[in-house]
Amino acid sequence: MRIKVLGCYGGQLLGFRLTSLLVNDSILLDAGSPTETLSLEEQHNIQHICLSHIHLDHIKDIAFLADNRSIKRLGGNVDNRTITIHSQPESNRILKKHFLNDLIWPDFTRIPNAEDPILRLNDIEPETPFEIDGVRITAIEVNHPVPCTGFLVEQNNKQMIYTADTGNTDRIWEIANAQPNLKGIIMDCSFPNEYQYLADLSGHLTPKGMMEDLRKFEQLGNVPVYLYHMKPETLNIITAEVEALNVRHLRMLTQVDELLF
Ligand SMILES: [Zn+2]
Ligand SMILES: [Zn+2]
Repeated sequence: MRIKVLGCYGGQLLGFRLTSLLVNDSILLDAGSPTETLSLEEQHNIQHICLSHIHLDHIKDIAFLADNRSIKRLGGNVDNRTITIHSQPESNRILKKHFLNDLIWPDFTRIPNAEDPILRLNDIEPETPFEIDGVRITAIEVNHPVPCTGFLVEQNNKQMIYTADTGNTDRIWEIANAQPNLKGIIMDCSFPNEYQYLADLSGHLTPKGMMEDLRKFEQLGNVPVYLYHMKPETLNIITAEVEALNVRHLRMLTQVDELLF
């Protein structure tokens, strides 16, 4: 399994892109930045988006991916016609009602027609695994102000976990501890410690809150933990606070990372 980091920040600033992870060329975990980082051909390979939740920093590029796909299709391309979005029913409902609503953006679930659309919304349930392109995905509920799931991603008997946006949470650590061959965790760490109140308010973690959760993880120090969703303006402070924790195999994710599991 190959995971290419397209964007890993909780804010958009010059040089800092929003969250999006590309699994094996065809599956996106969240869609904050694929059209900023992938060529049109690479975008065209995308067939699935596993969407953790409907906050704008995770859905933004669904709009532009769909638009680019429609141009490609108008040009006569018949491959990879549809991108399927896998998310909880409530998230799909909100996406359709408030984003792909023919006001904010065209309803690409009915373009060019409802039978063979550019975007298809697939409702998924937490802890009910499904398989796409040879990769097994399980959504796991986490702690955020709107319905949100992290994802357990498995291929060839190797697992990785993406927590998505979350404050302190328990279930995903129980599931992490139950994996036979866990190779990595990508985990929320959005704010420096001095912004703890903001982290609590917005359902995110600081290095201090992150450490509280990591104590639930039995393989800490053996399985790599990569942090994402840092607010770019505070990256230097967060980095210093994480380094001061002195935990083996714990580091910030970067936009040039390509993780091979
Ligand atoms: Zn969020
Ligand atoms: Zn976010």
